[in-house]
Amino acid sequence: MSVFHSVTELIGQTPLLQLHKLASGPCELFLKLENQNPGGSIKDRVALSMINEAERLGLLVPGGTIIEATAGNTGLGLALIAAQKGYSLILVVPDKMSREKIFHLRALGAKVVLTRSDVNKGHPAYYQDYARRLAQETQGAFYIDQFNNEANPLAHATTTAPEIFAQLDGRIDAIVVGVGSGGTLGGLQTWFAQHSPHTEFVLADPAGSILADQVETGRYGEPGSWLVEGIGEDFIPPLAHIDGVHKAFRITDREAFATARNLLQQEGILAGSSTGTLLSAALRYCQAQTSPKRVVTFACDSGNKYLSKMFNDDWMHQQGLLTRPSNGDLTDFIA
Ligand code: PMP
Repeated sequence: MSVFHSVTELIGQTPLLQLHKLASGPCELFLKLENQNPGGSIKDRVALSMINEAERLGLLVPGGTIIEATAGNTGLGLALIAAQKGYSLILVVPDKMSREKIFHLRALGAKVVLTRSDVNKGHPAYYQDYARRLAQETQGAFYIDQFNNEANPLAHATTTAPEIFAQLDGRIDAIVVGVGSGGTLGGLQTWFAQHSPHTEFVLADPAGSILADQVETGRYGEPGSWLVEGIGEDFIPPLAHIDGVHKAFRITDREAFATARNLLQQEGILAGSSTGTLLSAALRYCQAQTSPKRVVTFACDSGNKYLSKMFNDDWMHQQGLLTRPSNGDLTDFIA
């Protein structure tokens, strides 16, 4: 046990938990607890990597302003690090994101600009187009642009991937990931292609996202909507190598939320909604196996940001996902 000297030193080196109660089929199932990063998510790694790289390249100088379009978790990571390093931070956030994330961002000193969630890429109010425009109009601003920033997957290629490999003594058959920016998938793919090319990548996609269609047919489907936060897209993020994905699972909000609630009840891990999607896909992948497999997936963020939504029976009932407000008993879920 050592003493740390900055909160940024607490990013990464997250534990790996084997799920003994939830696992099914002939799999050993492991959950990488990214919810234990100081900002509460896997995106702390990426925020640190993108700020360090911008400083190294001279794109971000003391007194500068960082601008980003983010669903929240990258923003929390950026806000944590920007406050430590003395940068101003402006975040453009779609208005469907949980209030807890927005309160947390503002409390960290970030300026949060809310924009519409109901518009797609190309619309001026779309959060990424809005942020890019704001960066062009703001003096001394650096646009982080996580969707096109190579320092995003680099964080996973240099830290997440070798950590998993070391924690499992190099024996990993499959990794189940979701795609938001595609940084996790792209970075892990790069590292594993070199060090463990037999490891399969499995996509966990919210029903309504177009990414699973792309894996299965190579064609674009019609995007729908979903309540799970942080993953699923209406376009192909350039940093993800979708063609290198072996299998995709479409997971409904209902299944994702039920699985996340189950994870808390059975394994004691309070994780967010995207974790429910990933874990649902991992369980389905495991059930389909006929020989023993070692499978890794992620607790992408902490569930305390979703206490008023996914973990709130009244909210679940309003969404039509519980027959009546209950105590989280899965038998109450509408089949
Ligand atoms: N889960 C959550 C909760 C997230 O916020 C994100 C990032 N949007 C992801 C998963 C997906 O990570 P990536 O951006 O690396 O694809």
